Amino acid sequence: MNIPSNKHYWTEKEKKNVLDALARGQLSGDGYYTERVSALIEENFGAGKALMTTSGTHALEMAAMLIGLEPGDEVIMPSFTFSSTANAVLLNEGKPVFVEIKPEDLNADPNDIERKITEKTKAIIPVHYAGVGCDMDRIMAIALKHNLRVIEDAAQGVNGKYRGKYLGTIADFGCYSFHGTKNYSCGEGGALLVNQEDTQTIKKAEVIRQKGTDRWLFLRGDVNKYNWIDTGSSYSPSDLLMAVLLAQLENMQEITEKRKAVYKVYRHAFEPYERQGVLKIMQIPQECEPNYHIFWVRFNTQEMRDFVLKELNRKGIAASFHYLPLHSSPMGKKMGYKPCDLPVTEKAAKCLLRLPLYPGMTEAELHYVIQSVAEVIGAL
Ligand SMILES: *Cc1c(COP(=O)(O)O)cnc(C)c1O
Repeated sequence: MNIPSNKHYWTEKEKKNVLDALARGQLSGDGYYTERVSALIEENFGAGKALMTTSGTHALEMAAMLIGLEPGDEVIMPSFTFSSTANAVLLNEGKPVFVEIKPEDLNADPNDIERKITEKTKAIIPVHYAGVGCDMDRIMAIALKHNLRVIEDAAQGVNGKYRGKYLGTIADFGCYSFHGTKNYSCGEGGALLVNQEDTQTIKKAEVIRQKGTDRWLFLRGDVNKYNWIDTGSSYSPSDLLMAVLLAQLENMQEITEKRKAVYKVYRHAFEPYERQGVLKIMQIPQECEPNYHIFWVRFNTQEMRDFVLKELNRKGIAASFHYLPLHSSPMGKKMGYKPCDLPVTEKAAKCLLRLPLYPGMTEAELHYVIQSVAEVIGAL
């Protein structure tokens, strides 16, 4: 049996919306569907302002531009993340400073964040790994104490909650991804959430998104032609993609419930192995309600992880590891980091295993994965 790591969950609604978007005839950005999707995000999640973007990466870039980094300003982030988190800072002449994660949920360790604050620190970018919220109370308190901006990399965290608040709406900015690998997807897409009621920042974000022009005033009908007024780029997605995304977000609870069901079966099946000390299952802090983006376990050694991974792959199951930590990547080394600088992160990355998780996963597929893990672990 072949089991992919991830699969889309389409209904008739996506098709219907795409055909409707084609009939409407506007495939460029900021059409009917873009407006509906940003309104849905603002209303459903309680975001101040949701600006749809071409990717999660671009939402992060916009946020980094908006906090006004000066050359050499430091931005604290976990090393256990995607390159986009660090690139956003580097592209704005800032310096990423990598911190450790907590082994139980792989989210940034607030103690290490505090240790790494210097006079040059300007911002913190917590990453909600696997759709499980970071320790936002502590992170926001640290930011307040040291006067730092906070950008949530909620690329994986759409629809997840922390103390009843949606991820991405807690800090100054939140960045969502709707990439093909994420829970709710239109192939490529993202959103920047501007959470303060600060019209200056929202206006600046609109200008950056629209090639440095005041096109948003033009779209609103306030002016009859638009001007180049500042530095900017082009971050608005095609309305065709937003048509797909609207359908996905309207099916969000259904998608989440289906993912949760798979997660629960995995958890139940693997608890005995945890009791035997063979592996550890990802932990979800009490204050978090995840979106069930990822199910991961960790083994005691890399050798064990590699063995299980290889055997599952051989059986046609697309189990996988995840990030190679940024600090120990070729780019991280160029920045002066050594792998031993962040030992908790190194170890976690080497021992982590992700299992296939998608909404339409059948009982037979789930059974096959669980049975295969049992066989492989029995052979350890
Ligand atoms: C997916 C992801 C991104 C990038 O999102 P794209 O939409 O693929 O550009 C950034 N950060 C994290 C943590 C991600 O998982």
